[in-house]
Amino acid sequence: MANCPHCSQNIDSQAIRCPHCHQILKAYGHPGIPLYQANEDEFLCDRCLYHEDDTCTYPQRPYAKTCTIYHDKSQPLVFEPPLPLVSTNPLKALQLWCSRYRGLLLIIGLIILSLVFALLQ
Ligand code: SF4
Ligand SMILES: [Zn+2]
Repeated sequence: MANCPHCSQNIDSQAIRCPHCHQILKAYGHPGIPLYQANEDEFLCDRCLYHEDDTCTYPQRPYAKTCTIYHDKSQPLVFEPPLPLVSTNPLKALQLWCSRYRGLLLIIGLIILSLVFALLQ
């Protein structure tokens, strides 16, 4: 359970809209993405890293009261390491290849099945 930042009522932590005051809590269509909200007397951009480094092109800048891409400028940016493209382990490499070319494998499987059925008739 979480509290609505607008009316402080208990709400589901995955709620997109508060059922009590109807405040929008998350970006539409992206329930996993938090919607950051400014306090009444401030704008989010004032403490956002992307305002400070002048990389934000969001039209609400610099007066955003809500934002899904806000990043607190006092917190460091953390980058996820990219997924490996190849693996030295042959089994892992085969798994990576199969997951990357799943559609191709499906088509090849369908072609083989069609050929088997054609040969059996
Ligand atoms: S990302 Fe959002 S909060 Fe940050 S500067 Fe842009 S509009 Fe403002
Ligand atoms: Zn509410």
